[in-house]
Amino acid sequence: MNVTADVVVVGSGIIGLCCATSIAVSGKSVLVVGEHRKGEASTAAAGMLAPSVEKSEGPAHNFAIAARDIYPAYLEELADQIGIRVPLNRLGVLQVALTERGVRGLQKNASPTSHWIDRKELAHLEPTLGHAIGAVMNPEDGSVDNVILTLALNSLADSQSRVTRHAGAVTKISAANSRVRAILADGSAIESGQIVLAPGAWGAEIDGASALKAITPVRGQLVSYPGIGLRHVTYGPRGYLVPRGTASTIGGSTMEKAGFNAVTTPEGLARVQSAAEEIAPALAITPPASSWAGLRPVTPDMLPILGRDVDRPEIIYACGHSRNGILLAVLTGKVIAQLMSGAPVEHDLSQFRPDRF
Ligand SMILES: Cc1cc2nc3c(=O)[nH]c(=O)nc-3n(C[C@H](O)[C@H](O)[C@H](O)COP(=O)(O)OP(=O)(O)OC[C@H]3O[C@@H](n4cnc5c(N)ncnc54)[C@H](O)[C@@H]3O)c2cc1C
Repeated sequence: MNVTADVVVVGSGIIGLCCATSIAVSGKSVLVVGEHRKGEASTAAAGMLAPSVEKSEGPAHNFAIAARDIYPAYLEELADQIGIRVPLNRLGVLQVALTERGVRGLQKNASPTSHWIDRKELAHLEPTLGHAIGAVMNPEDGSVDNVILTLALNSLADSQSRVTRHAGAVTKISAANSRVRAILADGSAIESGQIVLAPGAWGAEIDGASALKAITPVRGQLVSYPGIGLRHVTYGPRGYLVPRGTASTIGGSTMEKAGFNAVTTPEGLARVQSAAEEIAPALAITPPASSWAGLRPVTPDMLPILGRDVDRPEIIYACGHSRNGILLAVLTGKVIAQLMSGAPVEHDLSQFRPDRF
């Protein structure tokens, strides 16, 4: 097979889809090459949009805030385009303190945009957290239902005439004379003018694109409980809870180096449950309805790799989003499309340079 397109996107998780759909809007034809794998992060994630808690420094932090704030308008537009309304929670994210030491630690590290709420106010706001001493409230942070978002992005890609799809695994990239070839596991090749690499945790398995070698899989285990009336995303000392509407509450998560083994373990689930019960004691008598594991694409500094390969500019990286790929996905798609159109990129991407490792 010798297929061509203006742009090939490798990976059909949330990052690949956001890139492909934004690039198509800019007028280029896009071929998305993706193979589904157990442990894909985009549907496994908890969906938190929490740049005030998962803090980075400098321009990377500004990028994360902008990424969070793009969501409301983006999801409105998505609903108008394809008729799928993706649930978004912008009520703010709580960080509860369960001890006086916890209060001091939280207040010391709190984001400048946050404020403290005392026990009484917290119990009024969230009765299930009534045992906590107080909490830091991070307004504007929240969560998105990443499972419905992934579904919606697939639907958007399917509705765009400039986007085509190919099921398969890319094993190697080679670039010469301003053309890029993606070699697939079945021996076939796909040629294009430019290639965007968004292969999630499996990046290091692809040869010919050196920045991908910095990505390692980090497993996270999650559980889902029936709804307990919690409305805010809530961090505790050892984990977090994310309400998915009124129907369920997700508890997470572990950070484990376990290769590509995307399975849950009794020890991992016990840790996640214990952290969840510490935040909301009601969960101790509420057995989880389900559990799963996913693989985060993690870089050494936990920041994504965004931009052109220094030696071969036909290769563009959109990968390594570590713990914040849902948060950063929509803005990643927009800046990658901007970068490819030659227009000035509106954000400072210097901390995400592909050659920094
Ligand atoms: C447990 C857990 C909790 C998380 N919670 C949050 C959160 O609350 N908030 C947040 O912002 N982020 C969170 N994340 C992180 C976020 O999910 C990821 O950063 C993001 O989903 C990465 O998206 P992706 O598209 O790069 O990867 P993926 O979703 O893994 O998609 C990559 C795709 O590329 C395909 N692929 C791989 N290699 C190849 C190849 N060679 N050829 C073709 N296709 C290939 C894969 O099969 C897959 O379909 C969490 C992640 C996990 C695991």
